[in-house]
Amino acid sequence: MKLIRFGEAGKEVPGLLLDDGTRVDARAFGEDYGEAFFGSRGPVRLERWAKENAAQAPRVGKDVRWGPPIARPSKIVCIGLNYHGHARETGAAIPSEPILFFKATTAFVGPNDDLVIPKGSEKTDWEVELAVVIGERARYVDVADALSHVAGYALHNDYSERAFQLERGGQWVKGKSSDTFAPFGPFVATVDEIADVQGLSLWLTVNGEKLQTGTTKDMIFGVAQLVSYVSQFMTLLPGDVISTGTPAGVGMGCKPPRFLRPGDVCELGIEGLGSSRQLAVAYKS
Ligand code: ZN
Repeated sequence: MKLIRFGEAGKEVPGLLLDDGTRVDARAFGEDYGEAFFGSRGPVRLERWAKENAAQAPRVGKDVRWGPPIARPSKIVCIGLNYHGHARETGAAIPSEPILFFKATTAFVGPNDDLVIPKGSEKTDWEVELAVVIGERARYVDVADALSHVAGYALHNDYSERAFQLERGGQWVKGKSSDTFAPFGPFVATVDEIADVQGLSLWLTVNGEKLQTGTTKDMIFGVAQLVSYVSQFMTLLPGDVISTGTPAGVGMGCKPPRFLRPGDVCELGIEGLGSSRQLAVAYKS
């Protein structure tokens, strides 16, 4: 099943993406896709509802905005340097334990919303990533049990301002949290849709030029390890997001480095998780 949300920013409502590409309105199911939904076996209940109702549910018009496919999570936990190629291009050592950082949840937006380059930014960069959506609350979870705490997967562009992240002191969160820095979706695929989460190809283009290609096979720490690891330090709530790191090919790793300017277009995708597109625009007060 593919969960979507649609409508005006801040007023999104739940829907479903059917296998033929039709978007249907799931408001009649009566719940948004947030903590309460995921924490009460929402996907199982929604599937039952969909079997009886999706075929007759109202269709969503082509021009209606795609929202982020889940409600704003309590946290977005990101993993740094989790692909061998990306660790190499940044000149960093292979981490012996996962590197964790946060991204402000106010950065969360729809998959095709404009990317707003922050005020004073000269080094806004892209990162195609596989994101994990937590189903069951997770605290001190074993690796063997970790995937049973996952509800689904989605495409995420972990936008980063490299000067804010790396040249201003303190934590990476500064460069990861600007508004629109977390375009999410187009949809969340429930776990049953993804046969092997460590075998998905991912890609990203800027203005049509392919700059990132990779496979989740090359992760240093796989999804099950990451869920277990993060849960040693904090409680993961239903609907929370873990973004699992990016393969090689970010702007900072180009020779010479290249960063986004207004008018640039990023397109990205992951096998089985659809694609998204963001137009970079200048910040306006
Ligand atoms: Zn990242």
